[in-house]
Amino acid sequence: MSKGELLLKRSSQYIDFMRYGLSSWFSEALKSTGWKPGLAADRAWSWLPSQCAICKVWPARAVCDECVAAFAQPVHRCPRCALQRPSASAHCPECLTDPPPWHDALTAVSYQWPWVDLIAQFKYQAQPGWSGTLASLMHSAPGVEDALAQGSLLVPMPMHKLRWAERGFNPALLLAQHLSPATTCADVLWRVRHTPAQRSLPRSERLKNLEGAFQLDPLKTHLLRDRHVLLVDDVMTTGASLRSATKALLAAGPASVSILVLARTERPGTAKN
Ligand SMILES: [Zn+2]
Ligand SMILES: [Zn+2]
Repeated sequence: MSKGELLLKRSSQYIDFMRYGLSSWFSEALKSTGWKPGLAADRAWSWLPSQCAICKVWPARAVCDECVAAFAQPVHRCPRCALQRPSASAHCPECLTDPPPWHDALTAVSYQWPWVDLIAQFKYQAQPGWSGTLASLMHSAPGVEDALAQGSLLVPMPMHKLRWAERGFNPALLLAQHLSPATTCADVLWRVRHTPAQRSLPRSERLKNLEGAFQLDPLKTHLLRDRHVLLVDDVMTTGASLRSATKALLAAGPASVSILVLARTERPGTAKN
């Protein structure tokens, strides 16, 4: 590596530390004060140029246009559960026999490399700085712009207060606020039971784990009546949490409930970039 290349590499590493390391540190510092950072921890460092987290080209956006084109291409998906399908409008057999409670489901990408790593940094390494980049991917997904244009109310998947305190921010809330701050309704649906993490449980126990986990704020249910609701989350795996939350939302009499997630876990062997 030439001296020039080495210098470029060191500079990009320094800037990435500034952008993501500091956003993480800022988020941790705010957490210790009990204040929930919202978009502040994200936007504080977003003016800095960055290295593409996937191909490492620099300077670039956090994920460069070439990587978005290569790894976030729209694919045919089941309209009800967003699983990848071989052709357009093909429902998967499960959705024909046991349809989910929501009207339709939208996703930006499959939950696989390279998105798994970036989502892990966002969620588990406390780097809220990723929310803007990941929300723009969601915004570009087919159907999302139309759903936002029709004035849908965005309800982020709620997080129990203990888990919120532990993580310092709710990833779904940050994504929703980036997508449409004016129509994000963060305090109508609550997670009232602190349940073991869904990913730690076998499929059969996931629905049981969620019984009574979500509740509507009785003083705010009128906000949902006759509205199109978009329930926003980061990742859909079995969809058990989303099913349970949708059932709670439907009790308020919305016109419809749709699901919008950043990434969808595919059935083994079906996902292609
Ligand atoms: Zn790239
Ligand atoms: Zn389906």
